[in-house]
Amino acid sequence: MKYALVTGGSRGIGKAVCLKFAQMGVPVLINYHSNETAALDVLKCVQSIGGTAYLLQFDVASEKDVSSAIERWEDEHPDDYIAYLVNNAGIRKDNLMFMMPEKDWHDVIDVTLNGFYYVTRKLLPKMMMRRHGGRIINMASLSGLKGMPGQTNYSAAKGALIGATKALAQETASRNVTVNAIAPGFIESDMTKDLPQEELKKLVPMNRFGRPEEVAALVGFLCSDEAGYITGEVININGGLYS
Ligand code: NAP
Repeated sequence: MKYALVTGGSRGIGKAVCLKFAQMGVPVLINYHSNETAALDVLKCVQSIGGTAYLLQFDVASEKDVSSAIERWEDEHPDDYIAYLVNNAGIRKDNLMFMMPEKDWHDVIDVTLNGFYYVTRKLLPKMMMRRHGGRIINMASLSGLKGMPGQTNYSAAKGALIGATKALAQETASRNVTVNAIAPGFIESDMTKDLPQEELKKLVPMNRFGRPEEVAALVGFLCSDEAGYITGEVININGGLYS
C-alpha cells in the first residue's frame, strides 16, 4: 500500500494536504510536533470523509526522533511504504537581523532545512528502490525566492530548501521520483494570523490571502500521475504577488 507522509499535518496547509490525500484515496500519516489535539482533529476529519490516517508524532528537527518514529512505523507495516512525502513543517521567528537571537536563527533553519534532510534521507532509499513514481514536495515560500525583511532566518531556510529541491530532483529522476517545491505567498493559517491581513492583502493583486485548500490542490496535482514529468520546479502560489 502506498502511503503519504505530511510533516506538520496537524494545522493550516498541512491539514488541508492531509484531507486532499484522503480525497485522493491515499492513506496518510499525519505528523505533528506538539499539538496532539489539532492532530486528532485532522484524523477525525480524514475519517469522516472515508479516508485512512494515522498520527505519527515526531520533531522533524531531531534526527533521533525522525528515525525512531519512521522505523517503528516501517516495522509495523512491512508491506506498505511511503510514496508521497510532503515536507511541510515550518516555523517563523521573525526579527531584524541585527536583533535576531542565535537561537531563533538556528530554530528556523533546524525545522525547515534540517527537518527536510532528516525525513527525506530516511525515506529516499525505499522510494528510489521501488521506482513506483515517488513524490517529494517541499513547502518553500515566497520569502525563499524574494527574501523578506525581518525574515533573514526564514528566507535563508526556504532559499536553501529550493536549492536542495533542484539538486535532489536530478539525483532521483532516473528512479522515477520527482522532487518539487511550492512557494506560497500569504496563506490564511495560524502562521499568518498575527499579520495585519487587511493591510497586506492590498499588496496582493488578487486582493486576498490564499486558502490552505488552494495549496493542497497543487500538492494533489504534483502527486498525480499527470505530473510525472514535472521535477526540480518551484511553483508559486501567491495571487500574483510575485513571479
Ligand atoms: P502553521 O499553521 O503554523 O502549522 C505549522 C505546522 O508545522 C503544524 O502542524 C506544526 O505542528 C508543524 N511543526 C512545527 N514545527 C514542527 C516540528 N519541529 N516538527 C514537526 N512538525 C512541526 O503553518 P502553515 O501556515 O500551515 O505553514 C505550513 C508550511 O507552509 C510551513 O513550512 C510554512 O513555512 C509554509 N508557508 C506558509 C505560508 C503562509 O502564509 N501560511 C506562506 C509560505 C510558506 P504542531 O501542530 O504540533 O505545532
